[in-house]
Amino acid sequence: MHLSRTIALISIIFGISSPLQANNSVQKAVENDWPYLEKLYQHLHKNPELSFQESETAKYIAREMKSLGFEVVENFGGHGLVAVLKNGSGPTIMLRTDLDGLPIKENTGLSYASQRVAQDRDGKNTFTMHACGHDVHMTVFTGTARRLVELKQRWKGTLVMIGQPAEERSGGAKAMLKQGLFEKFPRPDYNLALHVSSNLKAGTLGIVKGFAMANVDSVDILVHGEGGHGAYPNNTKDPIVLASQIVQALQTIVSREISPLEPAVVTVGSIHGGSQHNIIPNQVKLQLTLRSYSKEVRETTISAIKRITANLARAAGISEDKLPTVTVLDENTPAAFNNPVLASRIEKLFVEKFGQNNVLELGPEMVGEDFGRYGQVEPKIPSLMFRLGTVEKNRYEQSLLGQVRLPTLHSAKFAPDPKPTISKGVRAMTEAALELLDKK
Ligand SMILES: [Zn+2]
Ligand SMILES: [Zn+2]
Repeated sequence: MHLSRTIALISIIFGISSPLQANNSVQKAVENDWPYLEKLYQHLHKNPELSFQESETAKYIAREMKSLGFEVVENFGGHGLVAVLKNGSGPTIMLRTDLDGLPIKENTGLSYASQRVAQDRDGKNTFTMHACGHDVHMTVFTGTARRLVELKQRWKGTLVMIGQPAEERSGGAKAMLKQGLFEKFPRPDYNLALHVSSNLKAGTLGIVKGFAMANVDSVDILVHGEGGHGAYPNNTKDPIVLASQIVQALQTIVSREISPLEPAVVTVGSIHGGSQHNIIPNQVKLQLTLRSYSKEVRETTISAIKRITANLARAAGISEDKLPTVTVLDENTPAAFNNPVLASRIEKLFVEKFGQNNVLELGPEMVGEDFGRYGQVEPKIPSLMFRLGTVEKNRYEQSLLGQVRLPTLHSAKFAPDPKPTISKGVRAMTEAALELLDKK
């Protein structure tokens, strides 16, 4: 007789539920829920809202959570929502999803691709897209809530499930904490979240122990010059030439000033100046993203940027009152740290439930995630964000052979394989929450 049938039979005879049987029951329930999950996913995918504009998305998720019996507070820290379900005495677990999409025109060719247009931060119209998979996160979040409500007789404790706005522009976690997330609601014993991955097979689970995602800073540099006719450059101070030198010189910070053993990135992602061929403009604007793990590397990088820009301007003969303006924006995201004990416990659980082949230990990355903030408030709450693969099986195998290049997160072509991705996400998040809550 098959082992699982033997265990099931013994369980029936002795009135106990085996882990294997419980595992299968979650799997079965998620399979049965697929029509709901698919509909929710396609709705969210078609209707991405930009950071700080997630009002309809938040309302939609709040409505679903209320219908499940959660007490929901809306408009918390902007468009954030906090949904609480108390189910006897026991640990408090926070599950977090983000809500926002990106200003990208979707190019996936999917029948449910987003056609939505919104105004970006400069007031310009832009297409919007869930190119970072936050629609998957919300669907998994809601699906997990449905499973945990259904399994209420199996656990004791409190669920605090939060929908966080503005992850992409990194203001949401900060705003929710500032408004008193950990004071006005039960303080979590554990924080859990997941993020999709664009280079793992759909349904594969990835765990990083320790530092997982980097500290992120956004920096604006305004390079001032003295404009004039393009035919009389000698009568001007050309900010385009100076900005070009600055872009080149900034490359030496990581290569010459930071230890080769310390991770760091300086990327100039935007350069804007001038209006036409024969006019030397008055200014050029650069926008940078900086990545690091340690406080020292972050500070060295920022001070090097200030030193290099000021001194190149001086070399170009720019007066002291017109040296470049360097602004570190208040959008900083601290590095995300996965508590190693919690990460090992959940990794072991995932291996037990889903098999070793479906669980990978991953290394840190230089992307940022403001989920890290929830784990930094003293006294520190053990936190874990695990990764969830999204790539359709055949495409994944072709990519290993070098036959296709997989689109990354934030690509217009990023298209998760919904069913295996979302189903595994719901199962993994449900099992992780059950593991941390008390058993009944
Ligand atoms: Zn993103
Ligand atoms: Zn994201």
